[in-house]
Amino acid sequence: MRKIGIIGGMTSESTILYYRILNELATKKYGPKHSAKLLINSMDFGVISKLQTQGNWDQLNDIISEAAQDLEKAGASCILIGANTMHLCQPYAQQKVSIPIIHIASATAKAIINKGISKVGLLGTKYTMEKDFYESVLKENDIETIIPNEKDREIIHRVIYEELAFGELKESSKQQYLEIIQSLKANGAEGVILGCTEIPLLIQPSDVNIPLFNTTEIHARTGFEFSTK
Ligand code: GLU
Repeated sequence: MRKIGIIGGMTSESTILYYRILNELATKKYGPKHSAKLLINSMDFGVISKLQTQGNWDQLNDIISEAAQDLEKAGASCILIGANTMHLCQPYAQQKVSIPIIHIASATAKAIINKGISKVGLLGTKYTMEKDFYESVLKENDIETIIPNEKDREIIHRVIYEELAFGELKESSKQQYLEIIQSLKANGAEGVILGCTEIPLLIQPSDVNIPLFNTTEIHARTGFEFSTK
């Protein structure tokens, strides 16, 4: 197994998930005593979220590029940016390193295609749902995206930044998410992307009657498969 580099801390709650999933995959593939070879370059989410709110994507591009360069120098074979939102910086950062920064939306698109689905709902931060960087990758893969209405987008975004980012899991928020998933289904979604790496803390496949695409799990698995080649 080659080393996987993770740009983490966005948030730390979901970096823990990446760490756990990658170690479980290594144990499954190589045997009980084995664990994953990882480098985690963890960001300060206080700084990241402030720059997001200010719309300072130029500085975020620099921060993510520098983090990626550090991982490359430290011997990573590939990089996972451990957040959907921060993939806004993926194209810029990719130009600064020679190892692949595996795109979370491309990996998710493959999983959607494998499931034989072409119309999906997308849950994530407002940046992920409203900006083009994520939907465009799905579109390149002939996948149509259904975005929640404005009121629902507000709810999803608020819960991510005010609760899930701190590992706070509220039943009332879960119910709101489940209602939003049902309305995406009623609007024609054949599956729903959990397009924020903390959402799998709140919503599990057994909670719903529609296929879910857990981007944290899909992304970690894709990185792991790359590292074993
Ligand atoms: N982890 C989140 C995501 O997947 C949100 C935190 C962030 O803004 O990076 O989008």
